[in-house]
Amino acid sequence: MKIKNLPSIICLLLFQTIWSQQLLPDSLTQKPVEEKIAFLQQEGQKHNNIDSSNVYFNEALKLAKTCDCDSLYFRSVEYISDTYYSQGNYKKAIAFIEPFLAQAKESNSTISLFRIHTHLAKNLMLSEQHDEALKHYESALEFSKKIQNKIYLADAYNNLGDMYNTTGLHKNAKKYLLLALEVYNSINAPETEKLYTYKNLMQAIENPEDIEEYAKKALNSLHKSEPKEQASFYLYEGDAYLSKNEELLTPKHYKKSLQAFNKAITIADSLNLDIYKNFGLIGKGSVLLNLNRTSDAIAALENAKQLPQTIPQNEFYLLRKLAVAYERNNNYKKAFITSKEMFTLQDSISHYQSKEKFAEFDAKFNLAEKDKEIALQELEIAKQRNARNKWIFSSIGTLLLGLFIILWLITKQKRKKTLVQMKLEKEQEINQLRTKFLGNIAHEIRTPLTLVSGNLNLALENLDNTTKAKKNLQVALDNTKKITDDANEILELLKFEGHKMTLNKTAVPLRTSLERIVFSFHSMAQIKAVEISYNSNIANTIFVNTDIGKIEKIINNLLSNAIKYAPSNSKIIVNDVFNTDTLSVSVTDFGEGIKYDEQKKIFERFYQSENASKVGGIGIGLALSKEFSELLNGNLTVDSKPGQGSTFALKIPMQTTENNIENVTKPTSLIPQQFPNHNNSSIKEHILIVEDNPQMATYLKELLEDIYHCDVAFNGEEALNLLKTQTYSLITSDIMMPKIDGFELREKINTIEKHKYTPFIFISAKTLEIDKIKGFSLGIADYIVKPFNKNELIARIKNLLKNKASRIKWQLENTNQLSTTESSDQKLLRKIETYIVENLDNDDFKIKELADYVGYSQRQLARIMKQYTGMSPVKFILEIRLQKAFTFLQNKTFFTLSEVRFAVGISSSAYFNKKFKERFGIAPADLI
Ligand code: ADP
Repeated sequence: MKIKNLPSIICLLLFQTIWSQQLLPDSLTQKPVEEKIAFLQQEGQKHNNIDSSNVYFNEALKLAKTCDCDSLYFRSVEYISDTYYSQGNYKKAIAFIEPFLAQAKESNSTISLFRIHTHLAKNLMLSEQHDEALKHYESALEFSKKIQNKIYLADAYNNLGDMYNTTGLHKNAKKYLLLALEVYNSINAPETEKLYTYKNLMQAIENPEDIEEYAKKALNSLHKSEPKEQASFYLYEGDAYLSKNEELLTPKHYKKSLQAFNKAITIADSLNLDIYKNFGLIGKGSVLLNLNRTSDAIAALENAKQLPQTIPQNEFYLLRKLAVAYERNNNYKKAFITSKEMFTLQDSISHYQSKEKFAEFDAKFNLAEKDKEIALQELEIAKQRNARNKWIFSSIGTLLLGLFIILWLITKQKRKKTLVQMKLEKEQEINQLRTKFLGNIAHEIRTPLTLVSGNLNLALENLDNTTKAKKNLQVALDNTKKITDDANEILELLKFEGHKMTLNKTAVPLRTSLERIVFSFHSMAQIKAVEISYNSNIANTIFVNTDIGKIEKIINNLLSNAIKYAPSNSKIIVNDVFNTDTLSVSVTDFGEGIKYDEQKKIFERFYQSENASKVGGIGIGLALSKEFSELLNGNLTVDSKPGQGSTFALKIPMQTTENNIENVTKPTSLIPQQFPNHNNSSIKEHILIVEDNPQMATYLKELLEDIYHCDVAFNGEEALNLLKTQTYSLITSDIMMPKIDGFELREKINTIEKHKYTPFIFISAKTLEIDKIKGFSLGIADYIVKPFNKNELIARIKNLLKNKASRIKWQLENTNQLSTTESSDQKLLRKIETYIVENLDNDDFKIKELADYVGYSQRQLARIMKQYTGMSPVKFILEIRLQKAFTFLQNKTFFTLSEVRFAVGISSSAYFNKKFKERFGIAPADLI
């Protein structure tokens, strides 16, 4: 700087200061420079006159140079550039702003860089330098991404959208504009912000129908925006319809377009915005032309022509439309003049067009690059989305897999549990079956064992009476066979399980063999007074090759069941026939029959019907019979009607064989002897024996018939029938019997006044304490377990009869003292009994103590006891002591007799033995 210029420099600075001072109000004199710059910028914006505005902006720029305030500085640059832009002097704007780009880069201000690139692009675009404009818009986009504020990014997208719309590449425009919308949505930008995007989108979309949609979206915020903005929006809207494929446009669209242009014109008119009005009128003219309203179109276009034309393309377009309009209106002169004007513009237009073509080409190239980039970005996004989806799906997959595994584990666990449960249940069932089976065997053995030992004893006693002894021995033998048969059946069943069963076929005369089998049941049937009617239709000459042993077992089973279930004095019919090499045997009884649902089950091992448990048996006979029949290639079936009877049918194929004819006599009917003789009167006391096993019944009768007169009933029902006409001194009964069992019989007797005090003894193979308790609670007098000793039975019966006699005697002698409060007396007796049992080990137990306890006098107590038990209190206490001793001995509760004695409160051994023998017929030692 030369010194000679110094005064002028000083002058300039001074001028500037003064000038600035003039622009700035006094209030800001002392304020920081930033505030002053801001004020100047605002003031510049307020002035409509571009030159005035520029004075302020330039002043702001100058001040900004003096401070370290980059953004204010570059903002001032923009304001100045914008004044050239608004003048349509884009080149000047470009020339002004371009040098500041380097400064912005130096200052590293991202926002400023974004703004300057945008300004440059905007002006370049309008000065038709599309390629350059695109570059700057792209740079602006790059910088916008670095700025934290997303609005800049949306702006950059909007600008690119706008630019592509201008170059006619609407597809790309749409892409950028939608990106802009996405950004706005991501930051929840207000609708007003989106106006520009909607405006441009209307241009970018292909389908005219969608324009309305965006117009609607914009409408809400449009009224809140500046009128200038509104006018601009309507221009875009109107133009949007026109820029679409004409084939897609309907009058409805033209109408919409017209409405939009009219709105824009009205607003522009009110604001004196000639450029907007010009656009509006050109648009309006075009629409009217399309609607064939030529005169109106001419009016609008002429109106536009009067306004200053700033953009040659627009002017050219206006003239072209106007020429067409005049031509359509047959005003060829005007059409010619207008065309001439149009051609004058040709040069600039062709220049524009060639430039446009180049720019378009360039833009297309760039767009292709851009598309590639977008595609890459989309690919990246897709990849990321894929990765995300993959992650999501794999997570879901893992989750589902996990869930599936858990479910599987739960199901497995459940199944395991169910299996374990089922196994457990099966085991329990097997255990129950086993227990039941063992119980059945024990029960089944007790009866024949009693008969074996009992009959052997009788045989010993009857040695001088050979016929009697022989009979006893035969019964003993029969029962030994019964035990052996049961044991064999079990073994055979086991053999079946081990598949070791073989057939032992021999040639046998069929008819004779079957007769022998059937006849062997003669005596058994006789005892139960059952008639076996046997009808054989087999010729004596037939010999067959078969395992007759197995067939015998089957028929034995069928017959013994039939006898077991047939009521006494009924018939059992056995038929047989040999036809087409098949033997058919049927056994029919008229017993209680088998329930339909049980008819299949009875052939299962160990199955016993509910009724059968009253009758006994071990539940394997039919199972074994069926298996034998199948082993012989035949079958065994049942046909039964509950309440009427059953028919078992056996069919076995067998080959006839040559052999000698064997003659056998054929009894056709086995008529049983009348047994038992119910009405054999004598002076002896009458005893009723209720027992379903014929041999057991016979045995009991034989034991007692020397002393008592005995009647036999084969079940509870028969017993009750006899009790209708007969009275008995004592009743003995089995527990397990068909139809009405022992318990039920006792219950029924309890309701019959004339029988309820008749001493009642259970003689049973059931050893369970619970059965005894049940029996005693029903009022039975005694309980004898099979096998029993003959003397024991007789002694017990004698004892009961003695007590009964003494009771009756006392009652006859003391008719005036008889109590009428029976149920309370019975209760009292039970109370006394319990008290005695509680004090059992006290051998010094006195009657007085007992009387005091129940609150009666000793006399009253004696009276009640005599009336109901026939015993004196002393005898009653002794009875209870002895009963308990018997139970202790039977249950092996103690090791020694003295322990038992002490437990029941009898100190003298001799007294205990004597009284025990008297009471039970056996010595206590016999039970140890
Ligand atoms: P059990 O040894 O118990 O008699 P079985 O296998 O011979 O065993 O018979 C099985 C079941 O079939 C018996 O418990 C009984 O319920 C029924 N049953 C067999 N034969 C007859 C019949 N003639 N009348 C009624 N029920 C019968």
